Order: sequence, then structure tokens, then C-alpha cells
Amino acid sequence: MPELPEVETVKNILLPVVKGRKIIKIDVLRSSIIEGDINEFVSNLQGETFNDITRIGKYMIFHLTNNKVMLSHLRMEGKYYEFIENEENSKYARVVFHFDNGHKLCYDDSRTFGILKLLSEENYMQDEMIAKLGPEPFVINDVSSLMKKTKKLRKPIKSTLLDQTLMTGLGNIYVDEVLFACKIHPLTPACLISKKEWEAIVENAKAILNNAIQAGGSTIKSYHPGKDIDGNFQTRLKVYGKAGEMCAACKSREYRFIKVGGRGTTFCPNCQKKKGAPITVAITGKIASGKSTATETFALKGYDTLSSDKVVSELYERKDVAHKIEQLLGIEFHQDKVDKAILRNHLLTHPKDKRKLERFVHPLVAKEIINFLDDSKSKIQVVEVPLLFESKLDSLFDVIIVIDISEEKQSELIAARDKDKALYLKEINKTNQIDKNKNKASYLISNNSNKNIFIKEINKVITELEGLAD
Ligand SMILES: [Zn+2]
Repeated sequence: MPELPEVETVKNILLPVVKGRKIIKIDVLRSSIIEGDINEFVSNLQGETFNDITRIGKYMIFHLTNNKVMLSHLRMEGKYYEFIENEENSKYARVVFHFDNGHKLCYDDSRTFGILKLLSEENYMQDEMIAKLGPEPFVINDVSSLMKKTKKLRKPIKSTLLDQTLMTGLGNIYVDEVLFACKIHPLTPACLISKKEWEAIVENAKAILNNAIQAGGSTIKSYHPGKDIDGNFQTRLKVYGKAGEMCAACKSREYRFIKVGGRGTTFCPNCQKKKGAPITVAITGKIASGKSTATETFALKGYDTLSSDKVVSELYERKDVAHKIEQLLGIEFHQDKVDKAILRNHLLTHPKDKRKLERFVHPLVAKEIINFLDDSKSKIQVVEVPLLFESKLDSLFDVIIVIDISEEKQSELIAARDKDKALYLKEINKTNQIDKNKNKASYLISNNSNKNIFIKEINKVITELEGLAD
């Protein structure tokens, strides 16, 4: 996937190809590439001339003579090819621009994830895609605003840098390169990054991106029409894609591969030590998938664990909580604590009240989880959170373990529980968001065979995490 330096190179190659060229005709071969009205797109570009191309993050902005701009994002596979008119289009040509000099430019995209969008000079900076981007490292001279914005952010630094709102320009490849250069563990919570480290991140980001842009310069020299303009030259990488190879810096450990926020991440466990903070682990999965067994396996190894279900049970014992729920749902528990059977029956007949209840309970649970993570001195801290994604608590954790289970095995395990509860469990299982979020898992462990195999799998993960916490 092209990152900022590649997009900069594509822009630099494209500029002499399109600058001063009048667009005679546009063929839209795949309409999904164009965001917005296609007729408007075509009629606003045809007859106009390209004045310039600029770049913001990974967006190229083609400026036109009529004060309109065309935004282009290549996403996964977007490329540009230049041909003379009598040549065939490239294989995955999606939009073709015919110029007044007998040349044509194909926007080629095999996976069709890229976009072209018509906007105007006055408003393109306010377009939601552009407006949310943070500054590029090249313009950051003072890191205090980065520190301020991440003061309370427990999200791993890797995910924080990938989310382009704080700082734009580092994608999956160059984040790994920058963190390696700064000797920062990718799982370090953003709030623990010191001023010195932020300065190192910005300086290394500038240097690494500039190096890559310069490497792209040689692509420009070798460019000739008919060749694709995708700027793929990610050759000088030190850590990305090198998992299992010996670290070139310390020559004592192999690079490791882990998933952070669902993204593949490579780092050296020796050069990039996770400082001070423990590794926080969330265990989630559908009902009866084996979350408790997994959590107990961590507890047996001596690590601190917390069950969100237990937290909820304790909350339900509280008088203030019970009264608040009575008020919220218009029910009565007949005592100073929540009667779970009454609550379950109410939710079965009033499914919409489930959201109401969650909006009240989830923040209370989140508070207890944060207290647990703050108080525990354990090197690995484990919290079992059935509704991890629904409650948006996933950002609190370095590592997310999702326990997967087949429908068949799950019904078998639910049926083994008491009848009245089983009916309720089946009902809430329908709204579970695990399947949608499986890609966020650091570890996806299936529990479809027997308990011994399952525990063995969990122990394998524990050993790996112990390696990270070293
Ligand atoms: Zn190393």
C-alpha cells in the first residue's frame, strides 16, 4: 500500500505529465471510483486544464482552471499510467483522461478501493477527509501539542500514530520504522511517551519520510510513459517485513511480529522495551465461548485478573445503582439491590431498554476496570470483557484476545446452563458484535475442540506475552 513518500513521488512524476494539459474527454469505466455525482464530475473536468498538483497526507489534489479540484486517494492498489492515444488502456483502467496532446492518463485500480472526488478550491480543505488530518511531521517544531492531546490516552503509540488525526504521514510501514529508530515499544501507551521521545518520533519521522521521498526521486529519473506510476520503492526498510530475522541494531534478538489494533507490527524486543507499564490484556468472545476458562488460566499463572461480569454483579448489589435502574426502566426490584430475574424478564419483553441500561452501566464498569489497571502491580493484567467492542473499551488494552466458537458448540454449552437463563443468553447473543470485530484481535483462539487443547493454546499466548513484558 502506498504511503506518504510514495504518494509524494507519484505526484512528482504526474506533475509534468498533466500540468498545462487540457482534458478533452473523460471515460468513466467504473463509476464506484468517483465519489459524488458522476455527470457533475465529468462536466466540471472536461474542457478544463490541470494547473498543478499538491498533496496533503496521502491525498493528491489536482487543481483545475475553473477553480475546481480533483481529490485522488490511491488506497490499496491505485496507480496512474500514461499512454499515447492509439495504445491500449492499462488492464484495470477505471477512469481515463484524454488530453489535448494526443496522450491519455489511465487511473488504474485492480481492487477499486481508491477514490476520485470533485471539490472546489474554496472548500476542499473543509472536506471531512482532509479536515480531520493532523499536521505532517515536517511542520511540527514543538511537540507540546502532541503531548497535551495524548496526556490521558492509553492507546498504544503504534495505533495512536496510525490514526492520522494527531499527526498525518505515517502508515503501517513507516510507523514501525520510526518506532524502531526511536527504540519505543509499539504497545507503549501514548500517555507514557516522554517529551524527549515525542521529539525523537517527530525527528525520525521527518528523516525517514524524507529519505523515502529521496529514494522516490530515482524512480522519477527512470520513469517513462506507459510505466505505472505507483511509486513502490519501499526498499530501505530496517524492520518492517523482517520478522524472524536477526535485529540489525543489537544483533542479539530476532524481530518479533505482533498485532496491535489489528495491524501487523514488527519490532525488536531487545531494542524496544516496553517501559514501566504492564501489558494490559482484554479477553472477549461470545457467550459460553470459554472466556472464563481463558481468564482463569492467566490467574493460575499468578497474573491479576478481573471479570466484568463480576463487576456488574457487584454494582447490582449497590442500592444507588438498583434505584437508578428502577427509575430508568420503570420497574421495581422490591429490595435494595437489582433482582437479576426481574431485570432479565423486563429486557426480554422490552429489548429497546437494553441500550438504556448499557448507557448507564458501561461507564460504571469502565471506571472499575481503569481502577483495576491503575492499582494492579501485575506484569500482565487481564480483564474479561464480554461486550468489549460494544462498550468501546478496546482502546484501554494493548492486547485483545478473542475467543471464537462455532454456533453448534456454543448452543451445546448454553444448553448446559439453567433453562431460564439460557433463553435470555440466546437472545442477547443475537446482538453480539464479535464477528464484526474479529479483525481487531491480537489473538483469535478457537474453542471448538476440548478444554485441554484450549488451555494449551491460552498458555502459548501467555508465554508469548511474557516475552513481550520482559
Ligand atoms: Zn535489537
